[in-house]
Amino acid sequence: MVVVGGGFAGRRAHQLLSPHFDVQLVDAKGYYEYTPANLRCMVQPEHSAFTVAELPRGTVVDAVADVVPGGTRPPA
Ligand SMILES: Cc1cc2nc3c(=O)[nH]c(=O)nc-3n(C[C@H](O)[C@H](O)[C@H](O)COP(=O)(O)OP(=O)(O)OC[C@H]3O[C@@H](n4cnc5c(N)ncnc54)[C@H](O)[C@@H]3O)c2cc1C
Repeated sequence: MVVVGGGFAGRRAHQLLSPHFDVQLVDAKGYYEYTPANLRCMVQPEHSAFTVAELPRGTVVDAVADVVPGGTRPPA
């Protein structure tokens, strides 16, 4: 099973599904970004150091262009 995107939704899906299935998380950025903090970073740039975190171990860093039966296809 592949979960595309390691944001709020993808991380939660990965967390809930992992005990039951072989789940692969894929994210284009390769890090978790706490997006609600972005507004604060606009007025307090030094806060940006605290708005990113590591994705779960084993996350594949890649941009998925399309999802096809049996696998995922990277951008051309
Ligand atoms: C400035 C700002 C402030 C906000 N404040 C609040 C708030 O106060 N309260 C609130 O509830 N919500 C807030 N939100 C909204 C909240 O951030 C989003 O609803 C939430 O991030 C959506 O989660 P998501 O997992 O669906 O998507 P995202 O968090 O956008 O995660 C998507 C992930 O998928 C990855 N991805 C995208 N395309 C691909 C691809 N093709 N291949 C591989 N990976 C891909 C991205 O790298 C990203 O990590 C705010 C948003 C912003 C921008």
